[in-house]
Order: sequence, then structure tokens, then C-alpha cells
Amino acid sequence: MSTSFHITLLPGDGIGPEIMDVAVAVLKRVGQQMKLAFEFTSAPIGGAAIDATGTPLPESTLETCRRSDAVLLAAIGGYQWDNLPRHLRPETGLLGLRAGLGLFANLRPATILPQLAGASSLKPEIVAGVDIMVVRELTGGIYFGQPRGIFEAEDGTLRGVNSMTYSAAEVDRIGRVAFETAQKRSKRLCSVDKANVLEVSQLWRDRLNALAPDYPEVDLTHLYVDNAAMQLVRCPTQFDTIVTGNLFGDILSDIAAMLTGSIGMLPSASLGASGPGLFEPVHGSAPDIAGQDKANPLAQVLSAAMMLRYGLNQPEAAHRIEQAVLQVLDRGYRTGDILGEGTQAVGCQAMGQALIDALD
Ligand code: ATP
Ligand code: MG
Repeated sequence: MSTSFHITLLPGDGIGPEIMDVAVAVLKRVGQQMKLAFEFTSAPIGGAAIDATGTPLPESTLETCRRSDAVLLAAIGGYQWDNLPRHLRPETGLLGLRAGLGLFANLRPATILPQLAGASSLKPEIVAGVDIMVVRELTGGIYFGQPRGIFEAEDGTLRGVNSMTYSAAEVDRIGRVAFETAQKRSKRLCSVDKANVLEVSQLWRDRLNALAPDYPEVDLTHLYVDNAAMQLVRCPTQFDTIVTGNLFGDILSDIAAMLTGSIGMLPSASLGASGPGLFEPVHGSAPDIAGQDKANPLAQVLSAAMMLRYGLNQPEAAHRIEQAVLQVLDRGYRTGDILGEGTQAVGCQAMGQALIDALD
């Protein structure tokens, strides 16, 4: 008996279609090997959707996504759409997709692969063995809090205002995702806040502590965000899973990403309470190299692995893909963005073929 999954593919713009082709070929091969049946439906988003339909997120695309088990996105955007009004930009389509699917949890792993340790901006002995997952709250906090605006006081002076707010329910739902994520990993969870200064952080910390008894195997600790930023650069191997709010997570996930030094290698997942998750590489559409068979498809392929692990609950299939990625790197295959001494430059398609060979 085979298990069947319906996956929506959103190739998008720039290098998106090229790297998506590689990810789909890899998924198909793993599907054959593991007796998983994938049914793929492609839909337009971003600039490609603007050109075809006049809007960056057609209603039919959102509907297709909603009806599927998981959504795999490549990348959106490009120079030719940069001057459109805000509501018509490719990026607006992505925000609409996140909102439309109710994706409140963003998972961003930062793993140092031994083969690429030289790419980090930190010393190899500091980053060796780093394997961090940042779980960021994505739909609340100061980016969405009310009141907000630039207000004019009676004396005519201007005041800019934003509000950091979290409800107990919002903290609880991201907290549960984080505990469950930590449970699938090394069972160490570090919650990052600013509870010494902010009441919103005090509530955050209290709720995390209140959830802890439900996850007795997970070791929960707390850090202030300033200290967390310092520790991430000083000794990143002390972290396993980090959970934090929208603003702190924005910053910390970029710090964690830079520990690895290679944007073409970083996947991400965005999850909601129910319904499909969204899986996409951290990098953008790289219009400067689009259509030249130069793109690194590995972040896209690793996003497909995250989809299997966190979206479809197929950890074995995910592991197979991750092992294949390690193997092609071991064999010396590199796209231009991660080229190092003693390695050979290959194109996007050749990298894809190398992955298929490694899977076999
Ligand atoms: P966005 O705003 O969508 O994040 P961006 O312009 O900030 O886009 P990217 O599109 O990620 O960033 O590109 C940044 C640089 O990294 C570009 O020079 C691009 O060519 C390179 N790059 C990004 N992704 C890849 C990839 N998968 N393979 C090779 N190079 C890449
Ligand atoms: Mg960018």
C-alpha cells in the first residue's frame, strides 16, 4: 500500500522554475523508493502570476494551495516588477499566501555542513557541529500590533508608534510548535525574550513555562535577546531549538543563517494550526543568474526534505534526501556560489542529476 500526498508547486520567478525542477525530480525518485505517491499541481504566483493574470496571488492559486497537503514554493520577484504599486508586487503575493494559509510559525534551520564549514564568516572551530533550528512567530508581535502609525501631537511634534503585543493564545500555539520541533531534534529548547524590560515578554516566558510540563523530555531554558545574539556568535553549538517572537526571530534567524555563510543552502518551513504548510528556500529569485543553469538547487531540495519531515510526517524520506545532499557535497559537486578548493563547478541540472545518482 502506498501513501498519497497532494503537493502544490509554486515555481514563481527567476531561478524558481530551474530549482523547482530539481526538487520535483528528487521527490519523485524518493517517492518511488519509499512507496509514497506524490500528486503535483503547479500554480502561478508572484511576477509570473502578474504577467499571466494581473495579480500576484490569483484566487485559484490560493484555493489549490488550501486543498493540498503541502505547498512547495521556489522564489518570487524580479527587476521588471519592482516599480509596480505595492498591492501588485510579487512579494505581496507571498504575504497574501502566508496570511491565507494562517501560517504563524516559521522554522529556519542553520546547519553547518562539514563540507562547507569554510563558507562561514566565523572560525571553523567555532561553527563546527552547529545545528540550530529557529522557530519564529510570524503573524503577531510588533510587526502587526495596534496602535501603530506616525501621529502628530497637539504641539505639532511627530511621534512614531508601534506596539509589541502577544495574547496568551498566540504564545501557546507557537510554544507548542516549538516544543514539538525540539522533541523531533535534540530536545533542548531555548526561549528568547526581553522579560527584564518588556511585559509582553514576561507573559511570553510565563506561558512557555506553563507548557513545559506537557513536554517532560524537552529541556526548556530562557535567554534575553541581547545575550542570545551574543551567544549565537560566541558559541553557537550550545543551541538546538530556539523559539522567539516575530521581531527577535527576524534578527536571530538572519544571524543564525550567516553562521553557515551559504544562502543557496538554507531551507525554511512555515506552519499553521491545521492545513498545509509552506516550504521554501530562504534565498530570493536571484534574477542575476536566472535561466543560466547556475543556480544552487540545494536549498530548494532541502526545503522539500523539510516538507516531508514537518508537513507530511515522513522523516525517513526527508532523511534520505538530506543524506543525498551530503553525499553530493562529499563527492565534490558545487555550484558556483559554494565553490571551494578542490571542488568542481557544476550547473543546476548536473547537481540535480548528481542527487538522483546519490539517491540510487
Ligand atoms: P529577495 O529580496 O527575494 O530576498 P535578494 O535580491 O535579497 O532577493 P537573492 O535573490 O537571494 O536576494 O540573491 C542574493 C544573491 O545571492 C544574488 O547575487 C544571487 O545570485 C545569489 N543567490 C541567491 N540564491 C542563490 C542560489 N540558489 N544559487 C546561487 N546563487 C544564489
Ligand atoms: Mg532579500
